[in-house]
Amino acid sequence: MRVFVIGSFVIACSVKVARLPQAGESLAGSAFRAEPGGKGFNLALAAHRLGVRVDGLFAVGEDVFSPVVRSTFAQVGFPDTMLVPRAGSTGAGVAFVDPAGENCLAVCLGANLALTAADVRAAAARVEATDLVAATFESPDAPIREAFALARGRGRPTLLNPSPMRPLDPAILADTTILVVNGVEAAELGLGAAETLEAIRTGTRAPTPAIAALLDRGPACLVVTLGERGAIAFRPGLPPLRQPAFAVTAIDTVGAGDAFAAGLMAALLAKAPLDAALRRAAACGALATGQFGAFDAFPTAAALDAFLEAFPDAAGPDAASSGAGLSTGPTAR
Ligand code: ADP
Repeated sequence: MRVFVIGSFVIACSVKVARLPQAGESLAGSAFRAEPGGKGFNLALAAHRLGVRVDGLFAVGEDVFSPVVRSTFAQVGFPDTMLVPRAGSTGAGVAFVDPAGENCLAVCLGANLALTAADVRAAAARVEATDLVAATFESPDAPIREAFALARGRGRPTLLNPSPMRPLDPAILADTTILVVNGVEAAELGLGAAETLEAIRTGTRAPTPAIAALLDRGPACLVVTLGERGAIAFRPGLPPLRQPAFAVTAIDTVGAGDAFAAGLMAALLAKAPLDAALRRAAACGALATGQFGAFDAFPTAAALDAFLEAFPDAAGPDAASSGAGLSTGPTAR
């Protein structure tokens, strides 16, 4: 199982404060943490922990963080060839977190925005040697479009987590096999408000017409994650698959969506039917909420299996439809 990630890398800094600061104010923080992250990196790392062979492209700047990125990749076991050096700053973000876990943050994507289609073309043989290509919207459209076209040209599936949301490029959407969004992003896509999506998940409402319209534009599968309420998967012409969340005590939900997407692609690559893949994905999401931060929270395949054994009957998909039948063949373009 090999995945190619059109990556993003962000050093995520967080400061614990008694309350969130106001404009012009300088507060004393009680703890500081700097952690390697970024949605692309988290997806790659979470997949790697699950035993997937990961390749990818991650643009990094020339600044105080560049050596940190290199040592992080070496520590994880990702080769240097996954790094694309660029002028300017490495992606970095700063967050303030109050005692209730409420936060405010700003992320500067920096070098991540300088990844190009030419970078992907230069790595075309590596992209084509993998079984699935994945991307998030912390990367620009051009390299995603190029990599997805390469994958689809060889009949390989793709997974897109369009976060942070921006208008969906029609060519990218046409080449997306699995689209994974959270509730906020689904609402931004016009698929329905949070209450509507939850009503669809519980089966008390039919899917919105916008969901069918989105599926018409490319994806073989749309998955909407709804935090502690679970997830729903939609496929053209089939009833939704409803995945409840596992009942766990969440400590920090950062990275839950990345863990879910990684679990989903790892399971689908292992030829699991969609219902079983959703269950494994939800377990990965639940496990990722068990620790502060994301880096140490992503489960290994062994931890995932142990967790699922401890929850043998709980939290399986509750739709009457079969989980099989996700088409990953080439899209018509
Ligand atoms: P994101 O992190 O992108 O906002 P979500 O918060 O929807 O994504 O979480 C992704 C998935 O992780 C959910 O569908 C669910 O399966 C799991 N998850 C998230 N939060 C919890 C939680 N508090 N308890 C159990 N599972 C959770």
